[in-house]
Amino acid sequence: MCMRTFLISIGLWFCVLSLCHAQKREYAMAIHGGAGTMDAVLNDQELAAPYYASLDSALRIGEQLLAAGAMAEEVVIAVVRYLEDNPLFNAGKGATVSFEGFFELDASIMLGKDLRAGAVAGVKTVRNPITAAYAVMNQSPHVMLSGEGAERFAAEQGLEIVENDYFATPRTLRIIEQLKAEKNGTVGCVVLDKQGNLAAGTSTGGMLRKRWGRIGDAPIIGAGTYADNNSCAVSCTGHGEYFIRHAVAFNLCARYKFLGETVLQAAEYIIHRELNTDAGNGGLIAVDKNGQIAMPFNSAGMFRGSVYKETVSPVSVRSVAIGSEIKMLPQ
Ligand code: ASP
Repeated sequence: MCMRTFLISIGLWFCVLSLCHAQKREYAMAIHGGAGTMDAVLNDQELAAPYYASLDSALRIGEQLLAAGAMAEEVVIAVVRYLEDNPLFNAGKGATVSFEGFFELDASIMLGKDLRAGAVAGVKTVRNPITAAYAVMNQSPHVMLSGEGAERFAAEQGLEIVENDYFATPRTLRIIEQLKAEKNGTVGCVVLDKQGNLAAGTSTGGMLRKRWGRIGDAPIIGAGTYADNNSCAVSCTGHGEYFIRHAVAFNLCARYKFLGETVLQAAEYIIHRELNTDAGNGGLIAVDKNGQIAMPFNSAGMFRGSVYKETVSPVSVRSVAIGSEIKMLPQ
């Protein structure tokens, strides 16, 4: 074979490989349950077990819907609601407490197909803030509502309203007393559905001991949450002030779209280079328009999981992780 034929066949082979790589997955989803130090959970199998089980349940809820052809937004709502109701995570029931000892919740959702978005910030009485964010998107002319106004709106929409102490758990009550332990565990979900639409959602109790009506990145479109069918869906967790300054969720989509980086390259650059240099602690989950997933973090751990199905494969691939060890789950 002459040199020219050899080079052409190598070139063709690379084209085939990259086409396979770029092939759109049938569906894909990633979830997170917060990032942080997590010393106790990382060093104790027994403590970690319920987290793994809850992440797996969330993946199963999402995958069942995705396999049945549900829309990305339905999947995000169902999965985030499940995680909000789960007291292990810092969102909905189990949320962390403010300096004054209250629970003040933030959430947002965004759809990649038309860039519609909704968010609520600083709500104290809405049982599932992600549903309030969804209602803001669908039933109001606004993108973000905050505080009492958001609560009035949620009540008018017929969403479930609870007393503020509904969000307490024995663990958060202990924290209120000590006000020194750190609780991480914002929740998020990003989805590529069978129709090729992306969506992202994030929900949190915010940072422990936050004051003066502090709002983090989670409800801010472009910081904690972003989705665009031309690039990626992103949900972040970590020290929100840094994620706002670096407009992390939009930044990732922009790098993907304008620099031509893969979702993994864009995500790793932002988490390990931009945020690390600025001492911003945390991580993110992202899925691109082809179903490729990235879940980098620069903290000791991040509760996370993913599921995806290749179009050519009869089965899906599901996994969960907290630290660096990834657990592949049976079908
Ligand atoms: N990013 C959230 C906030 O700053 C907190 C977290 O993800 O743990 O409110």
